[in-house]
Amino acid sequence: MAAERRNKPETIGELKASGYKPVSVREELRRNLIRMIREKKDIFPGIIGYNDTVIPQVKNAILSGQDIIFLGERGQAKSRIMRLLVNLLDEEMPVIRGCEVNDNPLSPICRACRDHVATEGDATEIVWLPRSARYGEKLATPDITIADLIGDVDPIKVAEGRYLSDELTIHYGLIPRTNRGIFCINELPDLAERLQVGLFNLMEESDVQIRGYHLRLPLDVLLVASANPEDYTSRGRIITPLKDRYGAQIRTHYPVTVEDEITIMDQERRQFQSDEVEVFVPKYMKEIVAEITHLARKSPDVNQRSGVSVRVSIANYETIISNAVRRAVTLGEKVAVPRITDLPFMIASTTGKIELESFEDTREEKILDEITRKAVLIVFNRYYQIPKLEEIVLQFNTGFAVETSETMGAKAYLRNVKEIVRMANAIKVIDDSERPESIASAVEFVLEGLHLNKRLNRTKLGGKVIYRR
Ligand SMILES: [Zn+2]
Repeated sequence: MAAERRNKPETIGELKASGYKPVSVREELRRNLIRMIREKKDIFPGIIGYNDTVIPQVKNAILSGQDIIFLGERGQAKSRIMRLLVNLLDEEMPVIRGCEVNDNPLSPICRACRDHVATEGDATEIVWLPRSARYGEKLATPDITIADLIGDVDPIKVAEGRYLSDELTIHYGLIPRTNRGIFCINELPDLAERLQVGLFNLMEESDVQIRGYHLRLPLDVLLVASANPEDYTSRGRIITPLKDRYGAQIRTHYPVTVEDEITIMDQERRQFQSDEVEVFVPKYMKEIVAEITHLARKSPDVNQRSGVSVRVSIANYETIISNAVRRAVTLGEKVAVPRITDLPFMIASTTGKIELESFEDTREEKILDEITRKAVLIVFNRYYQIPKLEEIVLQFNTGFAVETSETMGAKAYLRNVKEIVRMANAIKVIDDSERPESIASAVEFVLEGLHLNKRLNRTKLGGKVIYRR
């Protein structure tokens, strides 16, 4: 580390001697992207399902040196992609020590640095800025001001005797402070129009206007923004010149397949260091959770303008796992395996993340219940053909009934498997493990599937579910 530091130029003179050639941020991003493509590096690790859609477009935009606006509903990894752009920057970049706008040592733009270099010359000190420090982002909210984004007159500096017209009295905002880096504005249409004008003037004309005072500030920033497509297209939300400034408009989307949704769920669910309880989630349970989200994204009862985020899938997945963990710990069972009776607990992780078209609170539970039933039916019918299960159904004709509950131990289900002829065969379709907890989950799935296919009746009694004919 120390040796490395000794080798790194520490003054403008040393930097010049090292042969350093500064390039614009767009040049730098493009150069590194090309290198990473050649080396077959994963440029957007952890981004699932965008390989043939979003990612090629992002690469094209970077190769073109274009500012980018991502259009998409919430929870489509827009922020994540924006932040991953940092990986395309050089690991470190030399800047003049103490500069507020990351000045390039070889051609500073701020007055303080220009003055400094004029007196110190090649002895002017530089520092190496890590790439993480070259990224800024801001959520557009009504209370953002020009001072936040661009800058303001610093009253302390004025009090020190500077004149208002003196460039040295400027306190720079977020964008100048991200000079030679990447700046992202989330929900761009929510940015007040006068700020959009200020932003445009800054980016296009290198022109800063603060309290009637003009200043030229030729910044070098890659601008990235996100917006909900409906806000974006509705007229008047973004001033046209600013809209034109973004060279690339990239539409994001929700995972197209249930498999992609599941990959994200497995990748993103919160994991704990001290996992005292082993968790096993059968594939059909993962499919049900993912399918619920996919159905919600098509449901007329759900507000599609705000969308249904993958975070709904992730939170629901965490919830059913936790319900299974709670059961396993309570009953002293070895493995936590989520099952059908755990699904109603998803109400806590779904509502609040989904906006309904109607405002009645009581409808939330009903709508989620309907969507859940539909999802279970779809997944069940992927695995089973009902005629092949008729032998199981027939056994219920004589008044036979089976009870399930989220608090019931796995052993009770093992009895069902023994009592019900052909149940063991039916379970083999979806579960090849011998573990009781896993078998319990499979039994619930088969019974619920038969019910949803109208082969068995289901009644709820307290916390219990009873299947009979
Ligand atoms: Zn400077």
